[in-house]
Amino acid sequence: MERFEIVLACPSCHVGARLTAFEPDDTDQAITWTDGYREIAGVPPPLQLVRCCACNAFYWTDMATPVLEPLASDSVAEIETPDENSYYEAIDRGLGSDQERELALRVLAWWRGNDRFRKDAARDRYPTDRRAIRNIERLVDLCGDGNHEILLTRVEALRQLGRFDEASETLAGICSDYELAAVRYGSLIAAHSRHLEILFD
Ligand SMILES: [Zn+2]
Repeated sequence: MERFEIVLACPSCHVGARLTAFEPDDTDQAITWTDGYREIAGVPPPLQLVRCCACNAFYWTDMATPVLEPLASDSVAEIETPDENSYYEAIDRGLGSDQERELALRVLAWWRGNDRFRKDAARDRYPTDRRAIRNIERLVDLCGDGNHEILLTRVEALRQLGRFDEASETLAGICSDYELAAVRYGSLIAAHSRHLEILFD
């Protein structure tokens, strides 16, 4: 994989922050989970939304201006990976103002919440706290129609909520190009499993 650093200027206060970006390639070891998160060995989650460490504002990295003049890298703070709660806070602050952004933030919150289940196969591996449940209930509503990826997100959210009949109905609308994934979701639904699982590795 390729690794490179960029410095972004916060759109609110213009203070720069360092972001390490990764360009994965085919030789990287990757696991795709049933929630759609593709985990690549040694690569942190992608940073679509970040929090400015100077003014605390959230901003989308694709809306921030890269700083072109070279800066001594130790003078620029490294951007932190937001956790599940940061994404909820961003939603509360209105960062998910259009449907596409809201969907992105809710999927990111879900993935970061599910991270704890990727490391521990022994426990119940689906959201149980109220905020996380409300988040995936909203995901079900946001993913009512769309491409196969959006529909599979809906299937998985319904499955993790234990709404197996609705998950089956949504799964029936997935086209045959995604048969491998569909078969896997179908067997988990048939077994009434709510657990996060590996989809492909
Ligand atoms: Zn700022």
